[in-house]
Amino acid sequence: MLIRQATVNGTVADVRVGEVVEAIAAKLVPLPGEQVLEAEGGELLPGLHDHHMHLYASAAAHSSLDCHVGAVEPELGRQHLARRIAAYPGLGWIRGINYHEQQLGELDRWMLDDLCSHRPLRIQHRSGKVWVCNTLALSELGFDRGGNEDGVEIDAQGRLTGRVVRNDPLMAQRLQQIGESTDPDIGFLSRELARFGIVGVTDTSASNTLASADNFNRLHQQGVLLQRVEVMGADDLDVGYLKILLDEDRLPPLDRLVQRINRARNKGRNVAFHCVTHVELVFALAALDEAEPPTRGFDRVEHGAMVNDDMAQRLAQLAVPVITQPGFLYAKGDQYLQDLSAAEQDDLYRYRGLLDCGVSVVASSDGPYGPINPWQVVSSAVNRATSSGALVTPWEQVVPEEALAGYLTSSAELTMRRSFQELKAITVGKAADLCLLKGKWSDLRHNPEKVTVRATVIGGSVVFDSASG
Ligand SMILES: [Zn+2]
Repeated sequence: MLIRQATVNGTVADVRVGEVVEAIAAKLVPLPGEQVLEAEGGELLPGLHDHHMHLYASAAAHSSLDCHVGAVEPELGRQHLARRIAAYPGLGWIRGINYHEQQLGELDRWMLDDLCSHRPLRIQHRSGKVWVCNTLALSELGFDRGGNEDGVEIDAQGRLTGRVVRNDPLMAQRLQQIGESTDPDIGFLSRELARFGIVGVTDTSASNTLASADNFNRLHQQGVLLQRVEVMGADDLDVGYLKILLDEDRLPPLDRLVQRINRARNKGRNVAFHCVTHVELVFALAALDEAEPPTRGFDRVEHGAMVNDDMAQRLAQLAVPVITQPGFLYAKGDQYLQDLSAAEQDDLYRYRGLLDCGVSVVASSDGPYGPINPWQVVSSAVNRATSSGALVTPWEQVVPEEALAGYLTSSAELTMRRSFQELKAITVGKAADLCLLKGKWSDLRHNPEKVTVRATVIGGSVVFDSASG
C-alpha cells in the first residue's frame, strides 16, 4: 500500500508499507494494483498503544445504553432516558446498564413499558444485582409462562414486577435460549479504538488467566479484535505482569505479598500494583523493598492517583513508571474537588511534578472507567479541566507531546524517556502499525481533543479509513 503525501519525520513524503514500512521518499510511483491512501499532508504517526484498559468491561459498557442520568429532577431524568432509548441503534433488544434508584426511583416493568414498549428492554442496576425487564422482554424470555424461578420477583397480586434479583445465570440462560448474545461485542469496541488510531492495548484486568490470553489471541487471529493485545493478570499466568490489587482497607500481610512477588519473579514476571491511595502506594513500595528485584524489565504502578514528592523520588530511584489516567480529571474531577482536602488534591493524578522528580509517567485510559479516546486523555493531561470546566492543580499540566508520548511507546520501553521527535519517527523496517491524522500535528497540538484520525493501519492492513465511513 502507498500512503501518498503524508507529513512524516518533518517533511511531506510518500510511504510504502507492507507488514513493515518498506520505503519513504518524496515521490513513489504506485505499483500496478497497489492500494493508495491519500494523506493530503496529514501527520503520519506510529499507531497508539493504550497501556491500561479493560477490553471486556469496555465492550460491555460500549454496547450498552448508559442509564446514568446524573443529578436531575426525576421527570427530567425520565425524559433523558426515554430519548436515549429512542435513539438506541438497531431494532431488537436494548441492554441498559448503570442505573441507580436515586435517580428515578425503583424501576419496574410498567415504568420500563412507559419508556419503551416496542422493543425488549432490560436494564441492570449499577450494583449488578438486579435486572429489570419491560413486558416484552419478560415475554420473550418466557418469564410470563410462570415457573417460579429463583429471583424472578412477583408482587402481592401475583404479577411479575419485571425485576430479576441476583440471578444473572438465569438471565444469561434465557437470553441464550432465544439467541440473544450475552457476550460483549469486542469487535464493535475494537473498531471504535481503531477510529482513534489505537493499534495496541494492554488489558490490565487482575482476573486475566491463560485462558483470557488465549481468547484474546483467538479473537485477534479471527480479525474480531484488530489491535495487538498484551495481557497482565493473575498468578497463574505465565507471562506478562502480575497485577496486584491493593485495597487500603484490606491489605494483605506484607510477608505474604513479598512471597507472591517472588513467586512471580521466579517465572520471569514483574508486578503491576493498583494504587489509588497514599497508603496503597507506601505499602507497594515497602513490598518492593523486601522482594527480589526484577532480573530484567521493571515493575509498574497503575493509576498512582495519590503520590507525594517522597514517594515520587522513591519511584524514580526504582525506575517504576506510573501508568496514570488524566481522563479521570475530566470525568470525575468535579467529584474529586468536592470530596478531597486541598492537601489531597495537591497529590491527585499528578503529572508535571512526577516528571520533574524523574518518574516516567504514561497516560492511558483505564476504559471503561475513564474515557477511551486517547485524544481526550491527552487534552485532559494538558488542561486538567473537569467536565464543568474547573481546573485541578493546573501546575501539574504537561504539554501535549508529553501526554502522547506513552501512547507512542512500547510496553517494554516505558521507562526510557525519549524525545517526541524520536517517538514519532517513522523508519523503514518498523512494523506498519500507523495512525494517519487529518492535519499536521503542529496545528492539531493546540486542541488535542479535536484530533481526528484519517486512517489506522495495523501490520500493513487498513483497519480504519475515515473515507469509507
Ligand atoms: Zn484498571
